[in-house]
Amino acid sequence: MLHGSCLCGEVQYEYSGELGPIAMCHCSQCRRAQGSAYATNSPIQASQFQFVEGRDLVKEFESKPGKKRAFCSECGSPLYSRLDSKPALLRLRIGTLKTQIEAKPEYHIFASSAAEWYEFKDGLPRYAELEDGPLV
Ligand SMILES: [Zn+2]
Ligand SMILES: [Zn+2]
Repeated sequence: MLHGSCLCGEVQYEYSGELGPIAMCHCSQCRRAQGSAYATNSPIQASQFQFVEGRDLVKEFESKPGKKRAFCSECGSPLYSRLDSKPALLRLRIGTLKTQIEAKPEYHIFASSAAEWYEFKDGLPRYAELEDGPLV
């Protein structure tokens, strides 16, 4: 079982499934939502994710039609995003995990939208968008 929480700790969640491949997403929405170069996300099974505390504090912002970004309304921590078109899947912001994990990020996505000040130095594959081929 994986456990996680927001910054203030009012929202606590647990996840009993497996993490999917961890991606660093450089899309402009993720950059703004995190206030950083990218979001580090893993696709997870929505059916195996649950809030154990603070569910009422979780708000969802619809960043584009059909795409919701969930965050703690008290402290602002981003928790996951989801698509109305893929209800079985959440994209967990793995920086909110409290449980230590073995998995490492596998690739960069939306590398074509990366901040001009960010330098790719880890040698991991970069994809221009989600399912496009490698950018370089
Ligand atoms: Zn919070
Ligand atoms: Zn993104």
